[in-house]
Formats: sequence, structure tokens, C-alpha cells
Amino acid sequence: AAKEERKGTFRFYDDQLFDRLTSRLKKEDELAKAISDDQFVIYYQPRVHACSGELAGLEALVRWNHPERGIVPPDEFIPLAESTGAIISIGATVIEKVCAQLAQWQASGVAVVPVSVNISARQFNTGGIDRLIASLLEQHRLRPELLEVELTESTMMNESSDIASQVATINAMGIRMHVDDFGTGYSSLARLQEFNLHVLKIDRAFTSRLGQSKSGEVLFKSIVSMGKALSMRITAEGVETAEQLRVLQALGCDEIQGYFISRPLPAAEILPLIQKRFLFETRAYSVNA
Ligand code: C2E
Ligand code: MG
Ligand code: MG
Ligand code: MG
Repeated sequence: AAKEERKGTFRFYDDQLFDRLTSRLKKEDELAKAISDDQFVIYYQPRVHACSGELAGLEALVRWNHPERGIVPPDEFIPLAESTGAIISIGATVIEKVCAQLAQWQASGVAVVPVSVNISARQFNTGGIDRLIASLLEQHRLRPELLEVELTESTMMNESSDIASQVATINAMGIRMHVDDFGTGYSSLARLQEFNLHVLKIDRAFTSRLGQSKSGEVLFKSIVSMGKALSMRITAEGVETAEQLRVLQALGCDEIQGYFISRPLPAAEILPLIQKRFLFETRAYSVNA
């Protein structure tokens, strides 16, 4: 009877479970094919100085150019890639493509700015990301200042000593490192100081509260002063309005990034912005008046 019951129970969940498993397996297969067929493309989003509007750098954001679905955003495949380990080869492809792009811009006389890449805990944990970066920089003859690394608070809080040592090696290479999505995890001040990173990138959730409530500003301001106390530069992500920009300038934020300046764009479309250099109007600083 017990056996009967188990069977029945199993059948009750059968359809849903089967659907979920097959769609996950299908996606895993597709992802593996995407890697072998090189279906990933890099979009670039500018980061600008908060006061002058001058281009400070670009963030590399991966997209999957799916043969049927078109451009697929990272939130729809990075979590799966992290759980299967596919992120290791996808991540390597991203750094490879960014270095090749930087080298190409440099060879064609474009005054390049640093490009940051996002690196997840799994990529650090597997080891070798420091060596991969070093060999790609050398292969493409790039100065280390041109490549930057973003890691999240939760990666930083990961207990693995591997992560700590690789972060230290990358840091020592002269590569600037950003703490991404700051404020959404639980990094300790001690850890922040120990890791000695360069930029605090405050999460969009905090930016979106600016200009709406005084408490949003107070919170943001306290993160800014904490970052400054640690000698870090402050970037605000997700800036969407002129009002948010104005508040951020007043709060002493160093750099901003968001749709108000530009959405992430493919390399060909970002090039005119690199050449333009100043991405918003500030009469005092504007070069191409
Ligand atoms: P992230 O590193 O925090 O990247 C910022 C995300 O916010 C990007 O989404 C960007 O398009 C979006 N964003 C920028 N400005 C605004 C704005 O003003 N308003 C709004 N609503 N959104 C804005 P995207 O490109 O979809 O990337 C999502 C996440 O995927 C990234 O978050 C990052 O964690 C991950 N990711 C992207 N590329 C890579 C990669 O190459 N490797 C790894 N490991 N993760 C990646
Ligand atoms: Mg990022
Ligand atoms: Mg972020
Ligand atoms: Mg984010």
C-alpha cells in the first residue's frame, strides 16, 4: 500500500517536475551550444564623472545572441551558468572579447577608457582567473589600468581563501576593483578594509530612492562617507533622472552610471560616445562647445 501511495504522490508532481527538468536541460544544452558557437556579445555602458560629465570608463555586460530569441539579458542565463559551471567559459569569453575590443580600439587610434568586467564568486573559486587576466593582458599588449574588475559584496564575504588570494593578486597587478551592488549584501567594514578595493558601486535600489524621500538621501550620504573614510571612490548605478544626478552631485558622489546617461550599447554604437568624451552638458567643462 505504501508503494502504491508513493507512486500516486510521484504522479501528482510528475508533469510539473518533468516540464521544469526538461526546460532546464534544454536550456543547459542550448547554453553549451552557445559557448561552442560563440553566441555571446558584449554591450558597453558608460560611467561618467558626476560633475563634469566626462567619460570615466565602460562596464562590459554580456548578452546571449540567441539564434531564435534574439538578444537575451544576463539575468536569464547567468544564474543557470553559475550553477552548472558554464560561467567559467562564458566569463573567460567575456574577458577575451573585452581585451580584443580594447586592443582594436587602441590600434585604430581611439583614446580608450578602462572597461570593467563582472566576475562571479564561482569564477574566483575555480581558480586561475588571475592568471587568465594576466595572460590576456599580455597577449593583447594592454596596460593593466585598462581592465577593471567588479565583484559583488557576497563574493567578497565568501570564506574561500582562494578568492582572497586571487583578489590580492589582481589588485597587485594594478587592476582597479569595484565592489558591485553595494548595500544589497552584508559585507563587514573589516572585510572592506582588508580587501583594499578602489570603488564602491552603490546599488540601483538606493539611487532610485533619491529625490523621493529625505531618508533615501540620508542613507546614501552615510554610504558615501563610509566609502570616503576607506579612501574609496563612489559610483552610483541606475541613475535615471536629472533630479537623481543633481542630488548625487550634491552628495559628493564621484561617478555615475545609468539610463540617464546611456543604456548599455554594442561596441559599434558606444564608439561615438567614447569619441565624444563628455556625455552630458556642463557649460564650464564642455569641450565641443
Ligand atoms: P550589474 O553588474 O549590477 O549591472 C548593472 C545592470 O543594471 C545591467 O543589467 C544594466 O543594464 C542595468 N542598468 C544600468 N543602468 C540602469 C538604469 O538606469 N536603470 C535600470 N533599471 N537598470 C540599469 P544587465 O546588463 O541586464 O546585467 C544584469 C547583471 O548580470 C549584472 O548586474 C551582472 O551581475 C550580471 N552580468 C552581466 N554581465 C556579466 C558577465 O559578463 N559576467 C558575470 N559573471 N555576470 C554578468
Ligand atoms: Mg556590474
Ligand atoms: Mg551593479
Ligand atoms: Mg546590479
